This record gives sequence, C-alpha cells and structure tokens, in this order.
Amino acid sequence: MATRTTGTLSTATTRPVVTAREVRRSFGGTVVLDDVDLAIDPGEVVALLGGSGSGKSTLLRILAGLDPDASGEISRMGSQAVVFQEHRLLPWKRVADNVSLGVTGGGVRERVAAALAEVGLADRGRSWPAELSGGQAQRVAVARALVREPALLLLDEPFGALDALTRLKMQTLFGRLRAEHNFAALLVTHDVDEALLLADRTLVLDGGRIVENAPVPLTRPRAADDPGFGPVRRHL
Ligand code: ADP
Ligand code: MG
Repeated sequence: MATRTTGTLSTATTRPVVTAREVRRSFGGTVVLDDVDLAIDPGEVVALLGGSGSGKSTLLRILAGLDPDASGEISRMGSQAVVFQEHRLLPWKRVADNVSLGVTGGGVRERVAAALAEVGLADRGRSWPAELSGGQAQRVAVARALVREPALLLLDEPFGALDALTRLKMQTLFGRLRAEHNFAALLVTHDVDEALLLADRTLVLDGGRIVENAPVPLTRPRAADDPGFGPVRRHL
C-alpha cells in the first residue's frame, strides 16, 4: 500500500511542515518501520538518531516522497529539499547548472549566485563537480537545496562523509543558514554531539519505532544561537 499524501502548499506558519502517521515499511519479511508518527513544526530542527540499519534513511526517503511502497499517511505543508550523505551532483554539469537544475521562476541565475555565495562558493559556479573537494561538493548540494527555499530540509547524514574539521565548518554553516532562512529540518545523524549542537529536538529510532522524543535543553549553546561559538569555530 502506498503512503497517502495530503496537504497543500500554504503559507500558514502554525501547522507542521510535515506530519507522518502510522508509517510502516517492510523489506521482504523484515519490518523496518513499525508504526512511526512524527511532526515537525515550521522552523524546527529535529535530529533523528538511531543505530546503523535502524531505518533512518528509510524514514527520510518516505518523508521525501521517494518510497512509493511505504504505508501510512504523510501530510506536507510547503516545499522540501533533500541533502544526502553523498552530494549526488551530476558530473557533466557545471556547479551553477547543478544548483539550478529544475528550478523555475524568475531570476534563477541570481538566486543560484546568491545560494553559492551563501555557502562560500561564489566563484565556483563555472567549475565542474570533479574539480571540487568533498566538502565543497557538499556545500554545492546544500546550495542546490537552499535555492529551492524549502520549508523543510531533509538531511541524511549530510556531513558524515567529511573529515572532522570540514564537518565542523559545515555544522557552523548550517547554524548560520538556519538563522538566516529559518527552514525546518530533519537531520539524520549518528553523531550525538551534532544532534545536540544543531537540533531543537532529538528523536531516537529503534526497533522500527521512535523510542525517544526529547527537546535539547536550552541551556546548551546551539549553533543557530551563536554560529561563531567555541574555541575552534571562531577560526572557521
Ligand atoms: P539506517 O539509515 O538507519 O542505517 P536504513 O533505513 O538504510 O537504515 O535501512 C534499514 C534496514 O532496511 C536495513 O536493514 C536495510 O538493510 C534495509 N533496507 C533499506 N533499504 C532497503 C531496500 N531497498 N531493500 C531491502 N532492504 C532495505
Ligand atoms: Mg542511513
């Protein structure tokens, strides 16, 4: 049975940007998601934690509408963009053309330039993906998501493949972009520190269900509150 999709594009700010009800997914006879419910409010960043193979990517793909074989109900308000662990840039397209792919409306060229500038790659629009470092390519993937001005960003271990210092830079960038754009996000990560740094709330997936749903204490310094905090970050 396919997921039923409800909801419409709207500028309302009070309803969740995504609501999932009774989401289930099996592969063969193996139940991976067994009755998952969640909702993410506008502007809220939610980290999704869980062990390897716990179904995090499966759930993210369902929320993104990329899994026609899942069951349950997904209700979306506003647009979404996805960032995967691997950048998924098209190697035969220049950076700017990767960012603009499928983007419609006026001023696309300017919007692409602005998005690339925001991720610190203003001068790389004419580069080929193969000319970029892993961190730069992932910045392009973030720009490609940003240019769509999503109400909800779905991020599947977006910094997981990067070295530690590049990951720190990307986390700092995420905090800055969030403060600027106020998007909501579901951030899949297996890095608890990253979850506590970047998210307002953490979910833990285990045995096909969400077993923890806890706000991150406000006393903790958060990247979105102070993008420059921390002795290392000040130099990034
Ligand atoms: P996580 O992202 O938490 O590491 P996944 O969502 O990728 O976990 O996978 C959860 C489980 O579902 C794993 O056991 C994985 O092998 C299985 N799985 C995921 N996608 C498929 C698929 N397309 N076909 C078969 N099994 C799959
Ligand atoms: Mg995964």
